[in-house]
Amino acid sequence: MKIFPRDTTICFLSFFLLSFFYSFEGFGQSPLKSRPPRYGALSVTDGQLTDSRGKPVALHGVSLGWHNWWPRFYNTDALKHLHKSWKCHVIRAAIGIEPQGALLTHRAKADSCLNTVIASAIQNGYYVIVDWHSHQRHLEEAREFFSEISRQYGHYPHIIYEIFNEPTDDSWSEVKSYAEEIIRTIRTHDPDNLILVGSPHWDQDIHLVADDPITGPEAENILYTVHFYAATHGEFLRERVRYALGKSLPLFVSECAGMEASGDGPINYEEWNAWEQFMYDHQLSWVVWSIADKDETCSMLTPSASSEGPWDESVLKPWGKFVKTRLQQGGKPVLRSKEGR
Ligand code: MG
Repeated sequence: MKIFPRDTTICFLSFFLLSFFYSFEGFGQSPLKSRPPRYGALSVTDGQLTDSRGKPVALHGVSLGWHNWWPRFYNTDALKHLHKSWKCHVIRAAIGIEPQGALLTHRAKADSCLNTVIASAIQNGYYVIVDWHSHQRHLEEAREFFSEISRQYGHYPHIIYEIFNEPTDDSWSEVKSYAEEIIRTIRTHDPDNLILVGSPHWDQDIHLVADDPITGPEAENILYTVHFYAATHGEFLRERVRYALGKSLPLFVSECAGMEASGDGPINYEEWNAWEQFMYDHQLSWVVWSIADKDETCSMLTPSASSEGPWDESVLKPWGKFVKTRLQQGGKPVLRSKEGR
């Protein structure tokens, strides 16, 4: 019995096949072999990051340096070493946007570095932060970028979107409006993965966000980012974070370190320990800056470190040795909880 005319049947069949391939990485590409990440699909419940069963969790890991300046550690072996040996739950791909050679002028290089990290995360089972590492708003470019990333990878639970690294000059109302646009773009393709939203003044004005948070459907599964450099940002910033947590604002420390905000100068271990205890008490995730070999305190590797790893102690700078140890100890501070949430 002929149900449909022949042309219609072919049309349906073509549509079905195209949809099948398109649902993976795009027509003509093979799907990635996926290993589930440690906590499954993450979400935000009552202001707290939770695992696939609704249990509170905190992620710990490192950020790669700006891809446009330190691309040599954006490779499969280095990433595997960070995940397996350093015990990173999460690795942040800091995709530079504005400087010469970064995404706005050299898109192919940015895509190549980012896709390497995303594929490694999916295949090895850890989370990857797709970090739009900018200091200014670039709404159209960001919309196009996140539309593509969410369409291509939004069905993998490994992906976390960070849509604006550190706003410097923009007010919260400007950042908020930008964020709502980008969130809507991502949600067109990906209804559920985590989205990290920047806060003004290098991610320090979290108290302003707490007074006027994003609401409605755009607020689902988002967290706001706080960044600190312990030798510069101490108790005053923790006080702002306490204020935001008091209003149940979901927070994520997507960049932090122990020295001054320049990334250089001596490490203030006392302030770092205060922050680590604080983050532990409030079950905040933290990602440490950075895997790079620049001549500065925060770059964890020396120039003699191989691009692929493994890295023994001789090629780790003091900050690298410290962070590696903290990660291997599961991100649990030496002291126990003092400030329960
Ligand atoms: Mg999804």
